[in-house]
Amino acid sequence: MRIKPHHIVVALGVAIALFTAASGIVAGITGFHSDSPITREVFGNIPAPLKAAFYTVIPILLVYGAVLFANRVKNWERGRPDNRRTTPKNVHHRMADFRAGVYMQTLLREPGAGVMHSLIYFSFLVLLGVTTTLEVDHQLPDGAKFLHGDVYRAYSAVGDAAGAVFVIGMLWAILRRFGPPAWRPYRIRIKTRPEHAVIGGVMLAIGVTGFGAEAFRIAADGLPDHERWSFIGYPLATLVDGSAVHGWHQVWWVAHVVAFMAFLVILPTTMLRHMFTSPLNMYLRHRDRPKGAMRPMPDLVEGDTELETFGASVIEDFSWKQLLDTDACTMCGRCTSVCPAHATGKPLDPREIVLKTGEIMALTGSPATSPPLSSGEAEVKVPANWMFERISTEELWACTSCRACDEVCPVNIEILDKILDMRRYLTLMESDFPSELGQAFRGMENSSNPWSLSQTERADWARDLDGVRVLSGGDPLDAEYLYWVGCAGSFDDKNKKVARAMAQLMERAGVDFAILGPAENCTGDSARRSGNEYLFQMLASANIETLNSMGVRKIVTQCPHCFNTLANEYPQLGGHYEVIHHSQFLEALVAEGRLDLEGATLAERVVYHDSCYLGRHNDVYLAPRRVLGSLGGIDLVEAPRNGTKGMCCGAGGARMWMEETIGTKVNDERSRELLDTGASRIATACPFCYIMMDDGVRAAGVEDDEVQVADIALHVLEAVEARDASAANSRS
Ligand code: SF4
Ligand code: SF4
Repeated sequence: MRIKPHHIVVALGVAIALFTAASGIVAGITGFHSDSPITREVFGNIPAPLKAAFYTVIPILLVYGAVLFANRVKNWERGRPDNRRTTPKNVHHRMADFRAGVYMQTLLREPGAGVMHSLIYFSFLVLLGVTTTLEVDHQLPDGAKFLHGDVYRAYSAVGDAAGAVFVIGMLWAILRRFGPPAWRPYRIRIKTRPEHAVIGGVMLAIGVTGFGAEAFRIAADGLPDHERWSFIGYPLATLVDGSAVHGWHQVWWVAHVVAFMAFLVILPTTMLRHMFTSPLNMYLRHRDRPKGAMRPMPDLVEGDTELETFGASVIEDFSWKQLLDTDACTMCGRCTSVCPAHATGKPLDPREIVLKTGEIMALTGSPATSPPLSSGEAEVKVPANWMFERISTEELWACTSCRACDEVCPVNIEILDKILDMRRYLTLMESDFPSELGQAFRGMENSSNPWSLSQTERADWARDLDGVRVLSGGDPLDAEYLYWVGCAGSFDDKNKKVARAMAQLMERAGVDFAILGPAENCTGDSARRSGNEYLFQMLASANIETLNSMGVRKIVTQCPHCFNTLANEYPQLGGHYEVIHHSQFLEALVAEGRLDLEGATLAERVVYHDSCYLGRHNDVYLAPRRVLGSLGGIDLVEAPRNGTKGMCCGAGGARMWMEETIGTKVNDERSRELLDTGASRIATACPFCYIMMDDGVRAAGVEDDEVQVADIALHVLEAVEARDASAANSRS
């Protein structure tokens, strides 16, 4: 029999249970007691039958809990392979992910929740250590016991401090979950289940009964002076009536043990299991590809695969790590609170995607169950593990792939991958995608660009720019940089101005560059993110063939989608290039003194809108801000949501090519936020953002002469040209 992870879980549970039972037997046989006056008697005042029950029931519950937990692990084993190996190269990153999550409780991502979690988590660990220490000391013969004298005093103080912190943390958590609406964040208000009440009740009961049992124990022992170090238990003990303290001690002790037993039952059966699964999940974050890259797929163009179905439509189509994700979810809803689709009234809720996947996984332990389901007139057979029974296509197509959910998730759950895998199934296997996407697909397939314009017009934007050299595909690249213009820069009127500005700035800086013109195809970003992997691979292979045959090494592009695809996804197909975004390139040119911005001013209040594919997908946040900040007189302000928390423009994930008919428009919402900063200019660093923000600002009734929206290259060129014109004027 092959040993599987769930066998190991059961084995661990049985081992701990046997150890606990053996401890009880040893303690019963030896009956070691300490002679020291400054200690406590373990199980003092507890009758032998209760002691025996303790050492019998706890091991049984440990085995029971381990079996329940193993069943969850068995579910993960239904997933496809996923390389999450620890290697000498990635072990540092893995440990850093683990530490950032567990030690810091992701404090920096949301301080309030992080502090509350830390209070509970760390005090719980200390209390676990305190109890274990007591049990270990209990097993030792008198000469070897160490919990007496000053050690015992310190031990008592540490135990009470941890208990107090634990109770405070639990009260905070309960008030945050069940208190008045004003105390409960939106993400908690919309998702509170009975299990939250059970977990809160059991955990608080452990803390409160612990203090109750301690207070009556101290009172029953006659308030010994050394117990003053139990700085909570002792004062409480002085308040209780001395006549019945022995009986009350037994009552509180039993209540404490029962609360702990309840904890052992709810640990594997509720979301409390995240105490184990979340740290594991953090450690296992994907390290085999950059975060902007989608999961690789087999070669569909050459048909080099034995797979019969692509993407994910049933639980078994996900990888084991994607299934572990669902058990690691803490239901915190941070992903929901940052999702632009959810915020604008679309049916998508990333937390629900994770939870529904987990529910389907748990309900369909045996995928053989295939209940017939009625669908309109015809009765169709749908497998019970069928994802689209619970997750609608509207939810999946509402995603802008902004990655805000993945970025904010405190336990590193990979939500976007799941959405995109299900899109892959819909598009590749069912041809089930929004009809407007079909037009973009046809454009990419027939004209190599989603605008469906003629490839021969690709370099028209540069026709009157003498410094722009257009290469033909196949010629060796005889320039230092290939300027990858992208479809928007080549065909969209607004973005053609960006391409021209960029070319002029590079020329001023003496950069040796050339463009591909008609030999450049769409990179395939939109095709891939809408699930059309076949089309993506077709476009990508053609581009890689061209680039490799020309010996291209260094690429500059102003499109973060092209940047991400060329840098992070083309290596999956054999294309390896040094790709730089125009914001980084301009920043370097300014820093090296090649692009002279001395005296170039832009006396405007400017707000920069973060592009998701530059920021969250590639961690480029500072370069565009530094480029703008190099201009004199500029007043650079920030929107409330910026950097890692920046709000999407609404066009990513191929949403650029789809209608937005549900709720409010994402770009309208984001534009309002940017306008509220009082900025007279909005700066972008992505062609899609440029289009979407300009549309949003105009839809808000704000004219171009009131608030101008433009790419950073346009703002920079304007300042440089104004400086030069004023210098020329003063000379003449
Ligand atoms: S990627 Fe963005 S739009 Fe998609 S689910 Fe996550 S937060 Fe929502
Ligand atoms: S997926 Fe992550 S962010 Fe979303 S609810 Fe679960 S733990 Fe929280």
